[in-house]
Amino acid sequence: MTATTLGLGLEPGPAGHAVGRAPRAMTRDELREMGHEPMPATKAIRLKCLDCCVGQANEVRQCVATDCALWPWRMGNHPWRAGGRGGPASDHAVPAEKMARGALPAANSDHPATLLPGHEAA
Ligand code: SF4
Repeated sequence: MTATTLGLGLEPGPAGHAVGRAPRAMTRDELREMGHEPMPATKAIRLKCLDCCVGQANEVRQCVATDCALWPWRMGNHPWRAGGRGGPASDHAVPAEKMARGALPAANSDHPATLLPGHEAA
């Protein structure tokens, strides 16, 4: 069993079964050949949350799995950055009642995640 026969993202593991390769040991071309494209981590998290909720942005917004490691990141922006959109010290925080209606910040090219499906202009 070789990495080639397993596919680009897999390699033989110590117990003889296939394991995932370390992405940083792969080339950009290999990653692209697998169908991955460069993106901010916040966008990757948002996409994972949309996948978790079968593409339903409102379900991601209302996710109750508060112990999930992705939960603070699920809206596609950085929750801990002071002054960042929606951050604790933000001047741009969306009012709770607006968020409860599912309204999201307007699409903004400075915040690529707002360009994802489900991010209609507020
Ligand atoms: S935060 Fe919620 S929507 Fe995102 S991966 Fe976790 S459980 Fe799924």
